[in-house]
Amino acid sequence: MHDVVIVGAGPVGGALALALADADLDIVALDARAAGPPLRADRSLALSHGARLIFERLDVWPRLAVIPGAITPIVAIDISQAGGFGVTQLVAEEQGLPALGYVVSYRALQAAIDGALSRTRVDVRFGVTVASVAGTAIDAAIALSGESPTELRARLAVVADGAGTVVAGILRHQRDYGQVALIAKVGMERPHRGVAFERFTSEGPIALLPEGDHYGLVWSMTPEKAEAMLAESDAAFLAALAQHFGERVGGFARVSDRRSFPLRLEFARPTVAARSAVIGNAAQALHPIAGQGFNLGLRDAYEMGEAIIRAPREALGSASMLAAFAARRRPDRYAGIAFTHGLTRIFATDSMFLSWPRGLALALLDALPPAKKAFTRAMLFGIS
Ligand SMILES: Cc1cc2nc3c(=O)[nH]c(=O)nc-3n(C[C@H](O)[C@H](O)[C@H](O)COP(=O)(O)OP(=O)(O)OC[C@H]3O[C@@H](n4cnc5c(N)ncnc54)[C@H](O)[C@@H]3O)c2cc1C
Repeated sequence: MHDVVIVGAGPVGGALALALADADLDIVALDARAAGPPLRADRSLALSHGARLIFERLDVWPRLAVIPGAITPIVAIDISQAGGFGVTQLVAEEQGLPALGYVVSYRALQAAIDGALSRTRVDVRFGVTVASVAGTAIDAAIALSGESPTELRARLAVVADGAGTVVAGILRHQRDYGQVALIAKVGMERPHRGVAFERFTSEGPIALLPEGDHYGLVWSMTPEKAEAMLAESDAAFLAALAQHFGERVGGFARVSDRRSFPLRLEFARPTVAARSAVIGNAAQALHPIAGQGFNLGLRDAYEMGEAIIRAPREALGSASMLAAFAARRRPDRYAGIAFTHGLTRIFATDSMFLSWPRGLALALLDALPPAKKAFTRAMLFGIS
């Protein structure tokens, strides 16, 4: 029997595997994707300063840092709303920080994690798809798909497959926002200088994240509008984007890699079951409005790593260990979910009654340094 089986060695499961690499434990990490450079569609991940600290400890940050353009520091965030007053700028220097956060590409991050893992003793098995995870009082059975189905057994199964649906005893709650995020890479006429933009429009928020020599665009809209925007010519698409940003950002020059994905809030309750737990997107998938989702998932991995290292081997996966882990994560999870969901309610609506308060909120945030600091902290480190 293995000590821990990690289902999914994506950015979250991979981070957990790295956190456990030096522990005197029998760890197996399984991933359905093929070994080698990650082929999954790329996306811009906004990492908090806290996430950077975690990746530094896991030897992932130095691997990324040596690749030119792989990490883009966000030195300021310009937050505004279309058709309303109220603008705020969060500036790293004012907060005494080198950066408000960092943008990295999913693929580059995954490649750095895979590279770091390949230098450890962790048994990482690619091309292995897990069909189900079911626990008993004694162990967890991890059933693998395939022509001749096999099974692994472990004291604890940690599921970080991005979906959480393979685990028995864990329910997933969904709230559809009725919107999709259209993502793309947008090239500019002038360098971005590390400034990110978040623009609240009547149709939903638009974020521009500086990444390498371009911006990563995350634009919320209805599925119908997204379908039309995906079909537009590059020139028409860029013109529509410029129209939404008004005067705030100019010089959109190129667009590539346009695609969309549905926006919904999904969270598991409970996050632990017999001999198993879900972490990362398997535990909660959030609207990208505040860039909290991945950072929250990474903290799940980090805390799970700590809990596993602290537990005596015979207590691994016990009900009391898992209950303590769930209780420890609860405040951070709930705050992250509530903060993100609250922002979507305040900012992703066209109500004229809300336009004033949200403009006021932005203006006040700009005028009140302590509030701004608290907001910046929440965006950077989470709400715990
Ligand atoms: C389409 C899309 C676009 C996104 N865009 C953004 C964005 O622009 N900005 C942002 O901040 N966040 C974005 N996110 C969210 C971000 O991708 C997640 O927060 C992050 O990927 C969570 O990491 P994870 O490791 O929990 O899950 P994942 O990244 O989903 O990794 C899961 C891993 O598990 C493996 N796996 C899955 N099922 C199985 C199985 N049955 N057996 C074995 N292995 C399995 C997969 O191969 C994968 O490697 C996006 C999410 C999606 C779905």
